[in-house]
Amino acid sequence: MSIVVLKLPDVKVIAESRPTRCPSCKGGTFQRWGGQIRNVKDPHVQAVMVYRYRCCQCQHTFRHYPEGIDQAQQTLRLRALAALAWVLGLSYRSVETLFNAFRVDISRMSAWRDTQERAEQLRQKRKWKPVRVLGVDGAWVRGWGGQQGVMVAIDLGNGQPVAIACVDEHNPQAVRRFLEPLVKQLGVSVIVTDDLALYRSLAEKLGVEHQVCQFHLRRWVEKYLRELEKSLSDEWHWMLDEIKKLLDELPVEGSKRLFELWKQIPQGRGGRSGEPLSPLDQLRYLLLRLSEHWANYRVFDWQKDVPWTNNGTEQVIGRMKMRSRTVRGYKNKNGMLNGLLSAGSGLVS
Ligand SMILES: [Zn+2]
Repeated sequence: MSIVVLKLPDVKVIAESRPTRCPSCKGGTFQRWGGQIRNVKDPHVQAVMVYRYRCCQCQHTFRHYPEGIDQAQQTLRLRALAALAWVLGLSYRSVETLFNAFRVDISRMSAWRDTQERAEQLRQKRKWKPVRVLGVDGAWVRGWGGQQGVMVAIDLGNGQPVAIACVDEHNPQAVRRFLEPLVKQLGVSVIVTDDLALYRSLAEKLGVEHQVCQFHLRRWVEKYLRELEKSLSDEWHWMLDEIKKLLDELPVEGSKRLFELWKQIPQGRGGRSGEPLSPLDQLRYLLLRLSEHWANYRVFDWQKDVPWTNNGTEQVIGRMKMRSRTVRGYKNKNGMLNGLLSAGSGLVS
């Protein structure tokens, strides 16, 4: 799956190039206009040189920062490190203690801000990157004010989260409000989800292909077949075996075959007037449902780079859950979502 690359921002004590564009008029010629030594917080660097320049076109003066430095006292490298230490499981208090042990003076509060900033950077970085295959799933996490239901969208191309929001997975309108802008902005062509009817109709409305996660599919079908095995008369058991085989092999013509099997079963009277479905009716229902949805089980077969399970999404949710278990509390809902987004993206910087 995704390879985790830990690459921290570089920090230079002096800018290695002159500015190229004036921040106010976009002019391109400058005079140096003095400079000053600035103390910074960083694991390696104590102070850097920051020059001022004056634009020859509009006379605006501005600071030109060396790589890894901006207005803040902490360097970009230290901020990234503090956020990563939190993602790895330390509390904000422990991040403070850890860095103080290395004589880098940061506070709990700034470690919290660094994690929030990291989430914002992840969002910015992903904003304009197209996503072809989007994994979507709901989860319960320990969050702000107790358990929170969240929805997570993952770029299954690189295993990175692209969006997270407090959305009830069983509310079709809410799920649509979450997914529709993502699908449009990112140019998504396939979504991978659980076998919920809500996703199927939504995929149709949004005009994207829909791959149902095979793990979820097999889990519920196997359970269904086990129940039928107990209640169904022996003469039909060969059909259960055939359904199992079809799901294992997922052949193109599976839908047709399931429909043929469906036609062989005489229609019962169950389901109407409140009568419970007989085992045979249950088998008919299963055959029809699988036959109708067959195309959604095998999108991976003809669409490039579509996984046949939603594992990539579950991995990210797993990281979020692991991290949120030990968080003492978030300051607010946004703080929680940012924390989860940072945790879900792991160590990728
Ligand atoms: Zn200018």
